[in-house]
Amino acid sequence: MSFVNGNEIFTAARKGHYAVGAFNTNNLEWTRAILKGAQETKTPVLIQVSMGAAKYMGDYKLVKNLVENEMRVMNITVPVIMHLDHGNYEAAKECIEAGYTSVMFDGHDLPFAENLEKTKEIVKLAHAKNISVEAEVGSIGGTEDGIVGLGELADVEEAKKMAATGVDYLACGIGNIHGKYPANWKGLSFDRLKELADAIDTPLVLHGGSGIPKEQVVKAISMGISKVNINTECQLSFAAATRKYIEAGKDQQGKGYDPRKLLADGTQAITDTVEEIIGWLGTPAVK
Ligand SMILES: [Zn+2]
Repeated sequence: MSFVNGNEIFTAARKGHYAVGAFNTNNLEWTRAILKGAQETKTPVLIQVSMGAAKYMGDYKLVKNLVENEMRVMNITVPVIMHLDHGNYEAAKECIEAGYTSVMFDGHDLPFAENLEKTKEIVKLAHAKNISVEAEVGSIGGTEDGIVGLGELADVEEAKKMAATGVDYLACGIGNIHGKYPANWKGLSFDRLKELADAIDTPLVLHGGSGIPKEQVVKAISMGISKVNINTECQLSFAAATRKYIEAGKDQQGKGYDPRKLLADGTQAITDTVEEIIGWLGTPAVK
């Protein structure tokens, strides 16, 4: 199966009060683990790459080709969306050219008028090629690829203006944070989420989905969140399983040092996390 864009999948999710997972890839193992989780649960999935991860792996084209080829050899039959996570203007344009089926243009650090203008340009370029676009209003807390967000709440009027550009999904700050959540975190702002969901029909995106208590994620989905971004959770489960393997001395038994063995438990842990989270999101199986 070839890539699909996110339009139908996320519009259906918003209408049906469920969400579809967006998982970040970092390498071959991550790509395989995410695809395996989606195939085993028979659910659509969005594989995304950050600018930093794409640079680490090579470039955007390499990432797209890797995902595409893994889909071929793994006989993946569920819909897969190939997405750029938190792209700047140049990265979004590059991914539109490279054949991604979805891009995020993150202009939250620009003055709002400029964010809006640039989003409009990206929407025009992307929609001409049937590619979905995600934009952002109200920054997400924490640090991602060196972009620091203070976690402000999205402004409803700004969200309306952003929705009017024709973006296909909108990331909105509702107190969510990238990375690990601090002990004194106040939780999601459901009041603001309700105002946003009442104001616009655009599927809403929850970034920093790792570490938010399950009941808050489920409640947010019932209120209009249709795309949930998961990155840190997979990194933590991979690291924990790999640590366990090494601490048990398995890398020193036989050929346990072979990277195909050394990384196997961690890779399986990513798949287990992906499947567990898909269960939280309520994503229905494809028919
Ligand atoms: Zn994010």
